[in-house]
Amino acid sequence: MQDKMQKIISLCKRRGFIFPSSEIYGGFAAIYDYGPYGVELANAIKSAWWKAMVQERADIVGLDSAIFMHPKIWEASGHVAGFADPLVECKDCHTRSRVDHLLEDIGVQSDEKMSQKQINQIFIENKKKIKCPACGQQNFSIVKKFNLLVKANLGNFTDDWIQDPVYLRGETCQGIYVNYRNVLQTARIKIPFGIAQTGKAFRNEITARQFIFRTREFEQMEMQYFTHPKEELKEYEKLRQARWQYYLDLGIKEKNLKWHKHENLVFYAKEAYDIEYNFPFGFKELEGIHARGDYDLKQHSKFSGQDLSYQDQKTQEKYIPHIIESSVGVGRIFLAVLCDAYQEEDLAEGLPADKQSSRVVLKLPKNLAPIKVAVFPLLRNKPKLVKKAQEIYDNLKSQYMCELDDNGNIGKRYRRQDEIGTPYCVTVDFNTFDDQTVTIRDRDTMKQERIKIKSIEEYLEKKLN
Ligand code: ATP
Repeated sequence: MQDKMQKIISLCKRRGFIFPSSEIYGGFAAIYDYGPYGVELANAIKSAWWKAMVQERADIVGLDSAIFMHPKIWEASGHVAGFADPLVECKDCHTRSRVDHLLEDIGVQSDEKMSQKQINQIFIENKKKIKCPACGQQNFSIVKKFNLLVKANLGNFTDDWIQDPVYLRGETCQGIYVNYRNVLQTARIKIPFGIAQTGKAFRNEITARQFIFRTREFEQMEMQYFTHPKEELKEYEKLRQARWQYYLDLGIKEKNLKWHKHENLVFYAKEAYDIEYNFPFGFKELEGIHARGDYDLKQHSKFSGQDLSYQDQKTQEKYIPHIIESSVGVGRIFLAVLCDAYQEEDLAEGLPADKQSSRVVLKLPKNLAPIKVAVFPLLRNKPKLVKKAQEIYDNLKSQYMCELDDNGNIGKRYRRQDEIGTPYCVTVDFNTFDDQTVTIRDRDTMKQERIKIKSIEEYLEKKLN
């Protein structure tokens, strides 16, 4: 299965979905850039999320808070003191690994609440079974905890508070908590309600493997839902169901999803589940759905000195809202979508249209496909065909992301579009000039139909929307 991962990584590079960051300088560990098709797919994932979370929900509003925030926020949130992963270093090859991951690989569960001493003890007990994932040796340093917040040197001028380091945000939800009161006072909402936001987050991740699954700069999509304390768990169940349904609506195969219940909850949490996806390297966390109690608003109340309680207009009851959250990385959905869509098909049995013996195809849900329609002239050196293809492309481009391609032979062009998941290819040939028709090829069946040029838009409208 790791083989599938390598194939997906290579397709991402070859076709312009994902590039390693700063590649001409030798790369930059655990950071990736999204290429021309990658940015389209990532944007489609984000808009599907925004539609489900904000557009279709009268009780949820959007927000875009800044990446830089007051340093006290990260103290209040507990990140300065506790946002740390235990790690060991291999003394032979100097690769650093997360201890919880090494233990998980040999089937031993650790717990995020454990002290450095406790986790070191478990590591020592199991040391004989653990090998360095990079070089296979068993020569490890002692366990150290490593803070994941990324420090910045913003505005080191004269302000007192700047004594504390400024951080790049480690998660987007803190921006939601500190704007809760602003939103409440300005939007026409009352409890229960949610605030959704997408944006960059930064973490000094120790283990930088598994492609875009775990990166040091990544984009999160988070929704924090503010509830009455007594309604928290009821709303939590509703959110869990909605988030599961979201992945099904996105086109992810249900057999590749599963729930993981957290057995050891942090002290303030009421309940915590992850939705896991069956990546080529196993079932791993895609999204976290947590019932967080009143911890977040209480902490910010305490550290800011502001009253963040809510008063019910009808009953006059005053309380600190309890929060349930949904939190997911765009990159993790991106990878899950690619893994779900990637297929290799044997075409040995008569498929003359493409004359290929096998193909790689991304069977992406149509709403996520980076390019919806590709338009080709059958032959590239016939100006008449090229001109007509250009006309058709110009007609469609305001409605759909389209591509006009007259490079190489037609079989190669189809192959390229299959690999980037384009649902439809329109080809102009010599018959076009006799009867004003083109062929339109379906990515999944590879069947071609002849349709009138004037009905292309109607055809696509029916198939794509
Ligand atoms: P993990 O256990 O995998 O480190 P986490 O439990 O620390 O993840 P959260 O802090 O709950 O993750 O973050 C919420 C979501 O943000 C995760 O479910 C994941 O989708 C995404 N995410 C977290 N860290 C990263 C990362 N380094 N790269 C990409 N996505 C991430």
